[in-house]
Amino acid sequence: MISTVLPTYNRAPMEFVSGDGSWLQEKDGRRFLDLGAGIAVNVLGHAHPALVDALTAQANSLWHVSNLYHIGSQQKLADLLAEHTFADTTFFTNSGTESCELAVKMARKYWHDKGQPERTDIITFEGSFHGRSAAGIAAAGSEKMTHGMGPLLPGFVHLPFGDHDALTEAAKSPTVGAILVEPVQGEGGIRPLPDACLKGLRDLCDEHGLLMILDEVQCGVGRTGKLFAHEWAGVSPDIMMVAKGIGGGFPLGAVLATEEAASGMTAGTHGSTYGGNPLACAVGCAVMEIVADPAFIEDVNRKAGLLRQKLEGLVADNPEVFEGVRGQGLMLGLKCKAANTDVVAAGYGQEVLCVPAADNVVRLLPALNITDEDIAEAATRLDKAAKQVAGDG
Ligand SMILES: *Cc1c(COP(=O)(O)O)cnc(C)c1O
Repeated sequence: MISTVLPTYNRAPMEFVSGDGSWLQEKDGRRFLDLGAGIAVNVLGHAHPALVDALTAQANSLWHVSNLYHIGSQQKLADLLAEHTFADTTFFTNSGTESCELAVKMARKYWHDKGQPERTDIITFEGSFHGRSAAGIAAAGSEKMTHGMGPLLPGFVHLPFGDHDALTEAAKSPTVGAILVEPVQGEGGIRPLPDACLKGLRDLCDEHGLLMILDEVQCGVGRTGKLFAHEWAGVSPDIMMVAKGIGGGFPLGAVLATEEAASGMTAGTHGSTYGGNPLACAVGCAVMEIVADPAFIEDVNRKAGLLRQKLEGLVADNPEVFEGVRGQGLMLGLKCKAANTDVVAAGYGQEVLCVPAADNVVRLLPALNITDEDIAEAATRLDKAAKQVAGDG
């Protein structure tokens, strides 16, 4: 008989009942060191006091009002994002997938209103991930996500990752209106786009008048050691998708845009019942107030250096299991020689959580405030897991 929960996930046999910092407590009492953070969501770990306070204070006064009215915490969060990013304006969603939907609509509407309605195509890249909605799977285009789900939403041009010539050629097409890319591919296996490539993409967009849409759902909100990953390359997008970390564990997403890119999105062109809800935005403000602090970001970079150094040691000590470390900041991938899923499973045995990704990579996306002691403990546990995988192999 089918599970009463639709069985779309292969779940590991653990059930966590509480969390504290980078630790999760299993029902049976075991304590797991959490290096996945709900897949880059719990940027401040579990049960961070400032977030708990923001949420409970909001819960005690007002849970929900419609976007038919002004929402103070939503306005405050939009102001914070405008202050700290390229954005002139923000629409709030409940997830990365919804942010993708709006980014696509915004690009299409932009060209429609500019009198070039034929510019409906959006260039995307192999290995990318933009969510599981009709637009999200069509944008990424992988067989794994689209199989049996047709007919797919038209309007995406899929290019190989890193094929410069294919990109320059595709960008010339009169039906292309935008380029959509993750500065660091997450699901795709922690594949960073080199800064020079992101700069090149920006130049290409400027040359052809295309909108640059960045998907920073996974790599944004301090994850790479900048508030947003594109800052490393010194460029800014026209539209940016955000989610995951921005809510610190409360469902919240956003689409940030320049005034020009958002010019088609006038009253009535988009909406959401829950998007920008008072509970979500109260938490989002608390997250931003902590993460956007330059001292916090500086500490993320210090911790990232520490973790990376430990991981380089781990790879050197376990050459039959690992091939190398890649990624940026606290968005790191262990490229494996052994099966990545075996490494993740062995980690469960050592009570440490990491997340598999494509390209045989094990992803580490810890809380941005993980302690130095927990980083050392992570390395110890991962080493034990690796030794076990090597012994089994
Ligand atoms: C997770 C993710 C999404 C989808 O976000 P959801 O909140 O799961 O809908 C989109 N893009 C990227 C890069 C992601 O990592």
